[in-house]
Amino acid sequence: MAEGRLTLPASVQVGHLHYRVESVSDESWRERFAGQCDRDKQIIKIATGMADGTTAETLLHEILHAAWAVGKCGPLGKREERAVNGLAPILLMVMRDNRALFASLVEAIETKGADA
Ligand SMILES: [Zn+2]
Repeated sequence: MAEGRLTLPASVQVGHLHYRVESVSDESWRERFAGQCDRDKQIIKIATGMADGTTAETLLHEILHAAWAVGKCGPLGKREERAVNGLAPILLMVMRDNRALFASLVEAIETKGADA
């Protein structure tokens, strides 16, 4: 997939935390990072200029970093990076290949009114 169809969200909710999503066009930053998750400031940064597929995987990768911390999945570090690196691309493909399932999973946890 080429660059241009994917629009980054302004923010993403990860558990009880609300992360701002920022595009970074700075050349020196983009040479070092595709994305970054700042847990202290609750900001996810994504490099501009990548193909949509790479941007999507990078955004999911950074969301998983945020989720790792929210879910208290273990110490932050190399193990976390390995898990996030391995899960992001396959999870993205599972979501693509099972859209109806994911829609029904989301529907199952939606908050319903008292009379629903
Ligand atoms: Zn990472």
